[in-house]
Amino acid sequence: MAAPVLKFSGPVLPDGERRELFVVGDTVTYEPVAGAERAVDGWIVPGLVDAHCHLGLGEHGAISDEETEQQAIEDRDGGTLLIRDCGSPVDTRWVQEREDLPRLIRAGRHIARTKRYLRNYADEVEPADLSAAVAREAQRGDGWVKLVGDWISRDDGDLTPSFPAADFAAAIATAHEHGAKVTAHCFGRDVLTGLLDAGIDCIEHGTGLAEEHLELMAERQVALVPTVMQTEKFPEYAWSGRERFPAYSRTMTDLFVHRRATLMAAYDAGVPLYAGSDNGGVSRHGNLAGEVIGLAAMGLPREYALGAASWRAREWLGWNADLAEGAPADFVVYDADPLADLSVLLRPACVVLRGRVV
Ligand SMILES: [Zn+2]
Repeated sequence: MAAPVLKFSGPVLPDGERRELFVVGDTVTYEPVAGAERAVDGWIVPGLVDAHCHLGLGEHGAISDEETEQQAIEDRDGGTLLIRDCGSPVDTRWVQEREDLPRLIRAGRHIARTKRYLRNYADEVEPADLSAAVAREAQRGDGWVKLVGDWISRDDGDLTPSFPAADFAAAIATAHEHGAKVTAHCFGRDVLTGLLDAGIDCIEHGTGLAEEHLELMAERQVALVPTVMQTEKFPEYAWSGRERFPAYSRTMTDLFVHRRATLMAAYDAGVPLYAGSDNGGVSRHGNLAGEVIGLAAMGLPREYALGAASWRAREWLGWNADLAEGAPADFVVYDADPLADLSVLLRPACVVLRGRVV
């Protein structure tokens, strides 16, 4: 039996025009349908996008399919209907078969330097094997590869690039030959020039970005996913390294002190910013709203911060930006205006994924 046609009404973002929206099958239409069942009235927002999330990753590495499913459900119930996974030690392709779980774009497994990342998270390689690892993950993923650009070097006692710039450049070229884009975890400054000169497509965290990087990123529209809930933790990292790695503590403190100015300089330069919760690993899933609130707290206009987690991010990842006639029926309804009060995002009134209320 066909599912009933559902009718939603209220302001439809991003333009905020008040409309009656019908869901027929898994798509949206504005052509009135007789006998449609009245669903929920409220502010209608195109399905949220978590541009940096980890499904199948727990505090100590890989987790079970049951736990992964729970993460995906928590994300979905928070309104996240499209996830760009930024590295997972397990194969989560099965999530894509599930109609009730968010749409998923995978990046394969993180690629890091040997013993230079969180244990059990990444495929850890030496420079000579980097390109081969990138080719492998490019084939496993959905058009993205994730590199760990920098991490603490216990030998140097500071944050340093994971690989020499020439190896990064070769790896990025390899990914591009395989049709995959590349993003990299970058906390510090030193790794950035090499990655950007080599044509990287996106930077995660990006707390070390300087003016010359931002100009180049804006010019080439290289994305930045600033993960402000993650960078909020830098003082903890600085604290934990204070005795054995004082230089690292100083670097992390300095990056933290400047993180707001860095982010706003990126925004002012015209770098496209997207919201990523960095959920998975040590943080819990479902709180992309917290990242939007965090972005606004740093000084981004509310509309830009929400767009970074919805319409602009959808377009960036090749989905429908807005809920135009015939668009996939992926949206979230809120009982108040989220742009007037971002805390409204913490409590979706109704989540519709592939035309179904979940
Ligand atoms: Zn991450």
